[in-house]
Amino acid sequence: MILEATGLAKRYGATPVFENVDLSLAAGELVALLGESGAGKSTLLNCLAGLDEPDAGRVRIGGQDLTALDEGGRARLRREKLGFVFQAFHVLPHLNVADNVGLPLLLLKRPDAARVAQMLDAVGLGDLGARMPRQLSGGQLQRVAIARALVHRPLLVLADEPTGNLDPRHAQQVLDLLLAQTREQGSACLLVTHSERAAARADRCLQLGEQGLR
Ligand code: ADP
Ligand code: ADP
Repeated sequence: MILEATGLAKRYGATPVFENVDLSLAAGELVALLGESGAGKSTLLNCLAGLDEPDAGRVRIGGQDLTALDEGGRARLRREKLGFVFQAFHVLPHLNVADNVGLPLLLLKRPDAARVAQMLDAVGLGDLGARMPRQLSGGQLQRVAIARALVHRPLLVLADEPTGNLDPRHAQQVLDLLLAQTREQGSACLLVTHSERAAARADRCLQLGEQGLR
């Protein structure tokens, strides 16, 4: 299993967001995570990435127990094995598009301009590498965030509504890319989405709600 979470629970104050969440993703699998707004999908993704600490349970990524690592260990595991597409993009405003996309490779001391160009082409931003983020539309920024999440061929991709700001053509392009990379690399992808078209292309759909994760 690429991702194995068992007995995950998270609460804010006395209010549980979710409890007893078990979740496994196998190599080559793309799974859609559905649920109403406020159901806890973003919180779950943050716990799986080690960006937020669950109150109970364990998370294993590539066999490594994330919950047993200290902050530095979690940061290293994220750099090496994880691609995260945030809802708010988190594109760095002072770096141009190509440098934003290449950042994960730079942090791994594996800079690779050809790979960056390949990813920009794959999300339809081949001509915009030298632009600054403030010169891009919301949909273009979202595609920058997706290219950056995939550039270092992570073992696990966690994507929070990656097609939410995209027109149908670009949404399909991004889904094609996520699916192709997941299959080719034998990685795994968990995709939060409200789009039925996106969910229909997933290998499985999971629903987060008052009954937990089903
Ligand atoms: P979703 O992504 O499914 O819309 P979220 O994970 O964003 O849901 O939020 C789940 C619940 O947790 C919501 O009720 C939200 O208000 C609450 N929540 C999220 N983050 C915090 C926080 N930092 N402090 C308190 N409550 C929070
Ligand atoms: P979208 O359909 O993705 O929402 P927009 O209508 O926001 O696109 O933008 C259309 C085009 O205008 C895009 O190609 C984008 O690069 C360009 N653009 C948007 N904002 C700016 C800006 N502040 N400076 C330069 N170009 C911009």
